[in-house]
Amino acid sequence: MNSISMNKERRHFIKSTAIAAAAFTVPSVASYSNNIIFSFNKQNKSSSKMKLSWTPYNLQLKHTFTISGFSRTTTPVVLTKIEYDGLVGYGEASLPPYLGESQASVIDFLKRVDLSGFSDPTHIEEIVHYVDSIAINNTAAKASVDIALHDLAGKIINSPWYKMYGFDKTDVPDTTFTIGIDTDEVVREKTLEAEDMFNILKVKVGGPDDKRMISAIRSVTDLPLSVDANQGWTDRLQALDMIYWLKEQDVVMVEQPMPKNDLDSIARLTEVSPLPIFADESLQRLSDIERLKGVFSGINIKLMKCTGMNEAIKMRNLAKALGMKVMMGCMTETSCAISAASQLYSGMDFADLDGALLISNDCFDGATLKNGKIIASDLPGIGVTPNRELSFSR
Ligand code: MG
Repeated sequence: MNSISMNKERRHFIKSTAIAAAAFTVPSVASYSNNIIFSFNKQNKSSSKMKLSWTPYNLQLKHTFTISGFSRTTTPVVLTKIEYDGLVGYGEASLPPYLGESQASVIDFLKRVDLSGFSDPTHIEEIVHYVDSIAINNTAAKASVDIALHDLAGKIINSPWYKMYGFDKTDVPDTTFTIGIDTDEVVREKTLEAEDMFNILKVKVGGPDDKRMISAIRSVTDLPLSVDANQGWTDRLQALDMIYWLKEQDVVMVEQPMPKNDLDSIARLTEVSPLPIFADESLQRLSDIERLKGVFSGINIKLMKCTGMNEAIKMRNLAKALGMKVMMGCMTETSCAISAASQLYSGMDFADLDGALLISNDCFDGATLKNGKIIASDLPGIGVTPNRELSFSR
């Protein structure tokens, strides 16, 4: 018997025992319920404390990843685990080097997280508020706690999160697959490999190779393309010319065309752009969204930027309420963080959730690629299972 069903049996036993005990003593109704509550509290106090532990892990990339002249073959992550009452929730912090967090900084942060004051893991709002207050920034470290907590709470409630959000898990946009900057020959080869599995491709632009890359891809496929300039265009009118050219090439959206703080130029560009313009580097968290209305057409939400699922779902809902488009993005991540994202991107306009598909040592089974979409599993929580031995400690 696995730990989940053992735990269910145990809780069923406790519940029926408490009800039976109450049924055979017949004082007042008030003391019935007091007895039941008392026996639950005693149970909670003796056996149910949340225990957070972690392990550093290095993701091996299938192909060298290049953006704006910077290449790498590995991405460090820290995996987290919260144990409670025989159940286990998993989380992840992904740490691409340019974002300023490291395995050491995440572990330092996690050492400061004390969950002993919380008796109920389903009180997520309260717990993540505390975690957020420990230090500023550290958004990936915070996300690793938030994701593990959601996984755990979903297992306690025995439901995947997409159901609790009220979503159809298949009502999601196609995920883009990124074709890295490379020689024409390699670009054509990678495009042909990707064409059978994906319905939209993403190209990193913002450098001198933009038109060459797009033309190489267009020479072998008609699939729609999205482009991400990663702040690479500095002149607004040149950017606009480029966007008109890209539209002729069946590009459907542009991510972060210009430097993140140049909001005036971006607003003027968005106003006349024939393609929707999405914020990535210009946006981190919920509190950034309102000032970006009218500047960008939409926002790219990433769990590692926004401290996790609790804030991501609020960002989705606020952006939609403001009439903005929404996209779910990711870093290079295992299926743990990708599965967390897969729970909450129903009804969004675009998705870039290829992170786990780019690595050769994914240590979780979870959301899977089906007809070009990343689809959540039906397991409770974020829907993941580790597929190898991982040694968590604290
Ligand atoms: Mg981006």
